[in-house]
Amino acid sequence: MTEPIEIVVVGAGPGGLSAALAAAQAGARVALVDNNRQPGGQYFRQPAREFRGAASPHQRQGADLWQRVQAAGVHWWAETTAWGAAETRVLTLAGNHAPSSIQPPAIILATGTYERTVAFPGWTLPGVMTAGAAQTLLKEQHLLPGKKILLVGTGPLQLVLAAELVRAGAHVVAVLEGAPIFQKGAAHLGSLWGQWERVVEGASSWLTLASHAVPYRTSWGIVAANGNRQVAGATIARLDAAWQPVAGSEEQIACDTICLGYGFIPFTALAQLLGAQMTWQPELGGDVPTRDANLQTSAPGVYAVGDGAGIGGAALAQVEGEIAGIAAAAQLGHHADTAAQKIQALLPRLTRERQFQKMYAALFTPGAGLDTLARDETILCRCEEITQADVRRAIALGANSAGEVKSITRGGMGDCQGRMCSHLLAHAIARETQQTLAQVGRVRPRPPLFPTPIPVLGQVQAARAEESLR
Ligand SMILES: Cc1cc2nc3c(=O)[nH]c(=O)nc-3n(C[C@H](O)[C@H](O)[C@H](O)COP(=O)(O)OP(=O)(O)OC[C@H]3O[C@@H](n4cnc5c(N)ncnc54)[C@H](O)[C@@H]3O)c2cc1C
Repeated sequence: MTEPIEIVVVGAGPGGLSAALAAAQAGARVALVDNNRQPGGQYFRQPAREFRGAASPHQRQGADLWQRVQAAGVHWWAETTAWGAAETRVLTLAGNHAPSSIQPPAIILATGTYERTVAFPGWTLPGVMTAGAAQTLLKEQHLLPGKKILLVGTGPLQLVLAAELVRAGAHVVAVLEGAPIFQKGAAHLGSLWGQWERVVEGASSWLTLASHAVPYRTSWGIVAANGNRQVAGATIARLDAAWQPVAGSEEQIACDTICLGYGFIPFTALAQLLGAQMTWQPELGGDVPTRDANLQTSAPGVYAVGDGAGIGGAALAQVEGEIAGIAAAAQLGHHADTAAQKIQALLPRLTRERQFQKMYAALFTPGAGLDTLARDETILCRCEEITQADVRRAIALGANSAGEVKSITRGGMGDCQGRMCSHLLAHAIARETQQTLAQVGRVRPRPPLFPTPIPVLGQVQAARAEESLR
C-alpha cells in the first residue's frame, strides 16, 4: 500500500512548484494539484505539447523547476480542481488523478490571482479581454488575440505583453498606462537594485515598442469600447491624479481588440473556506490571509504563498514557496532541526522581493476614478447580467452590504463565482452607499468554487454518507 500524502500543494505556478520541491526534498510525501494540464501557473505557462521546442526563457526556467519537482518524487495531480474546502482541513477535488476529497496534515495554498476587471460602456463586447487571456493565447497556443490591439491598464506587465505581441507580429496601436509613472517613478528607483532580470526584461520590451513606433502614454485610460457586435474602436482619455477621465481630453482610436491589464486580485476562496483569518490590504490586492513568519495562516497546518497571499510577482512566490515547504515539512517532523537555519538563509531574498512588492504597489495601484466609468446600463456581473442600475435598485430596497446585494440580485452567483465581478459590485455599493470597502464587507465564498460535474458532487456526498455510517 502506498503511504498517505502528508502535504497537498494547491497550484503549480512558481509558488506551488517551489513549495512542493522544498517539502519533498525535506522528505515529506507531497501531492501537487493544478487545474491545468501542464504545471507552470501563469508565469511559467508552458506551450501546448504540440509546440515543444519553441519555449521562451521563462518557460525553460519553469521546465527546469518542474524536472526537479518530478525528480523529488512529488505526486502530480494534473487537471484537478480543488473546488471546495472545510475548516477541518479537508479539500474536495475534481479530477481523474486525485481522490474526491483529502484531509492531509498540511496544505500549502499557492492559488495565484485572477485579473482585476474594469466595467465601462462596451466592456462586454467581443474583442475586449484581459491581458492574461491574451498572454495565455500567445504563450500556450501561439495565437494572436486580434489584428489591431490596444492595451490599457497599469504595470510593467503591459509593457511585456505589448512587446510579446509585437514580436509575434501583432499591430499594437497603443499602450495606455494609467499611472503617472514618470512623475512618481524616480522616487522608487532604489527598489530596482538587484532586480536585474526585471530591468533587462523591461528595457528590452521598451526597445521593442520604440523600434516599432508603438505609442506609450502615461496617465491615459479607456472610457468606452465602441462597436456593435465586435470592438471597432475605443474612446480614451487623459486621467487626473485620481484616475478620473479629464473632460474634453477624449480621443477615438481604431482597434479590434482591447486588452485590459488593471492588476490582480489574490484568489483566497480556499483559504477562507479552510478557516484562515483575512485582512484587508489594498496594497497587496485586497483581502489576504494573515500569516506568521513561516507563512502559516491562522488555520493550523494551512500555509499560503505567492500571489494568492498578496500580489508580489513570481520571484516572491518562489521564495515564499520554499519557506512554506520547508516549514510545513518540519512541522511534520522532516528535518525539523535544520529548518530554522534554512529559512533564515532565505530571508535576504524575501526582504528584497518584498521591497519590490512595495514599490510596485506604490506605483501601480489604480485610483478610485477607475470605478466611475460604468453607466446605469453597464453590466457589472456578466454571468447573471446584473447592471449598475440593478445594484442601485437593491440598495433602494435596503441592501447595504456585499452579501445583501448578492442575495437580492444574484450578482456573483454565476459560473465565475464572483471572480470577475465581486470587486465591481463592492465598489459600486461603496460609492452608492458612501461606505468604505471594508464596511461593504466581503461575500463568503461557497463551494463549488468552480463549475463542477454533478457526479463529482455525488461522490463527495456518498463518501460523507459512508463516513457517517462508520
Ligand atoms: C494573467 C497574468 C499575466 C502575468 N504576466 C506576467 C509577466 O509577463 N511577467 C511577470 O513577471 N509576471 C507576470 N504575472 C505575474 C506572475 O505570473 C505571478 O506573479 C506568478 O505567476 C505568481 O505565482 P503563483 O505561484 O503565486 O501563482 P500562479 O502562477 O498564478 O499559479 C497558480 C496556479 O494555481 C492554479 N489554481 C488556482 N486555484 C486552483 C484550484 N482551486 N484548484 C486547482 N488549481 C488551482 C492556477 O490554475 C495556476 O496554475 C502575470 C500574472 C497573471 C495572472
